[in-house]
Amino acid sequence: VTATDDLVVEGLSVHYGGVSAVRSVDLTVPAGTAVGIIGANGAGKTSTLRAIMGLVPRTATAMRWGSVDLTKVPARDMVRRGVGYVPEGRHVFSGLSVEKNLLLGAYSRPWRAETKQVLDEVYDLFPVLGEARGRLAGALSGGQQQMLAVGRALMCRPRLLLLDEPSMGLSPKLVGEILGVLQRLSAEGLSLLLVEQNAKLTFEATSTCLVVENGEVAMVGTSEELRHDPNVRRIYLGL
Ligand code: ATP
Repeated sequence: VTATDDLVVEGLSVHYGGVSAVRSVDLTVPAGTAVGIIGANGAGKTSTLRAIMGLVPRTATAMRWGSVDLTKVPARDMVRRGVGYVPEGRHVFSGLSVEKNLLLGAYSRPWRAETKQVLDEVYDLFPVLGEARGRLAGALSGGQQQMLAVGRALMCRPRLLLLDEPSMGLSPKLVGEILGVLQRLSAEGLSLLLVEQNAKLTFEATSTCLVVENGEVAMVGTSEELRHDPNVRRIYLGL
């Protein structure tokens, strides 16, 4: 799954009517690296991911992934291009089995012969999903549903994965499991862009991080630098 393309975003802005939610954000996800965006509730993190996916109207000076101009790619084509997205709040199909949910994630894959193999890879990454493959997704715990949402996004074999608050509402133990999965995906060469309110998790899962406040990039640095920054420690780590 080795990624070879950098994601480059320059001057990205999002407005909802008169509300300016994202203001001229610059960010880069070099191929094969994990980048985090932390910030308070309402800082513009979700809007940034949705804007990259083309799910909200946005303007940008430049937005490209390798040689692809993402400003020209409609949302419905992003997954086929290799960009996976795990939206905030899981959104699994409760009335369908775990396996059906995963197979739905493979809908845009032209090479269906490989679907079984990808399914096995997801079960290898999340053994708990393999054990529950025949159960209804709605019967899973919150943490398991989050694993399912990540697994479903992986069914398209993305080379870049955007994740919106995968740790939300999870117990510390499950946050640890999500961290393990993100680190493994990263080690396998998948590019990650992780949006989180959980700064501790983000610093452990990423090499570079942005802090967004009021729709703007307030700080950017290595995750190691930021985790030692006095202001970040006070505001985002509660230390
Ligand atoms: P959260 O952690 O709650 O997801 P966030 O950092 O992801 O927060 P956004 O959801 O991107 O922030 O919201 C940024 C700003 O845009 C907020 O002020 C929010 O109220 C506003 N906003 C978000 N979605 C809409 C919408 N559909 N219409 C109007 N305003 C919106």
